[in-house]
Amino acid sequence: MSDFSNPIFHDEAKAREWLERRLWPEGPICPHCGVVDQATLLRGKSHRPGLYQCNACREPFSVTVGTLYERSHVPLHKWLGTTHLMMSSKKGMSALQISRMIGVTYKTAWFMCHRIRESLRQTNRAPLGGANKVVEADETYVGGKEKNKHANKRTPGSQGGANKEAVVALVERDGKVRSEHVVSVNAKTLGPILASQIEAATHIMSDEALVYPAVTGGFAGHSTVNHSIGEYVRGGGFIHTNTVEGYFAIFKRGIYGTYHHISPAHLKRYLGEFDFRYNERIALGVTDAMRFDRAIPGIVGKRLTYRRTGGAEETQGFASLQAA
Ligand SMILES: [Zn+2]
Repeated sequence: MSDFSNPIFHDEAKAREWLERRLWPEGPICPHCGVVDQATLLRGKSHRPGLYQCNACREPFSVTVGTLYERSHVPLHKWLGTTHLMMSSKKGMSALQISRMIGVTYKTAWFMCHRIRESLRQTNRAPLGGANKVVEADETYVGGKEKNKHANKRTPGSQGGANKEAVVALVERDGKVRSEHVVSVNAKTLGPILASQIEAATHIMSDEALVYPAVTGGFAGHSTVNHSIGEYVRGGGFIHTNTVEGYFAIFKRGIYGTYHHISPAHLKRYLGEFDFRYNERIALGVTDAMRFDRAIPGIVGKRLTYRRTGGAEETQGFASLQAA
């Protein structure tokens, strides 16, 4: 399944049959009344392929009802192919390259990628850390003018350069990441994020930025490295923020190398994409095929319509999804 030559990425019927097996291992589930394996496949030229009728409530349905595939004019195998390409590229894949490989226009590829990103955003997540666990916290700045992109070496307490967007990431060592786009980095923005995303029994690692002492008082411990004096690891190798910096390195290579420019309005979706791949990474035993497979329930479960995305700029952007 991790191989792009798999027929499910090139043949609509194969894609639909695969999705049925993936979502209905016990037989078709009626989305209207919830009855399992009590449906009749409607055959004949007057019915579109994959249309079932529920024997209990008599309503018709297919496997894509209620999913983001439902109203799309893009055939299902192209959605699966796009998801596969995004899931197997560590630094992401540009809409231009996806449009060439999948055979859709650039505009369609762009909207498909955003809808998939939105579906990958993990909400209602369990907190990171716990007793004897370490969570590293750090912030970075992205965006702004191209010529300034190397000018974002953060100095302690800085709020980033003009037109730069602040991102805070929390990474549990040998575990998962949670990253968020924040309007600015201060105790008011970071305090609630740390409190809600990290177990109180956790030991927090950060650099010397002054915001962290103000927001880590409720945790089991807090250690810092002082990057401004060239200190990167101390405490016998225990005290560092190399893990979260590694996450930012992947994210920035993707943002600057693959996507080049991202709109602040969409930053949270890109973070959702990078968080998902990091949380389902090889080092945690997740193969490309498993990552693709795990991306599917989110896509299916998210009834994303452009009305739900909120915000004027986003609504404008997503209105064109109807054309996809
Ligand atoms: Zn039913």
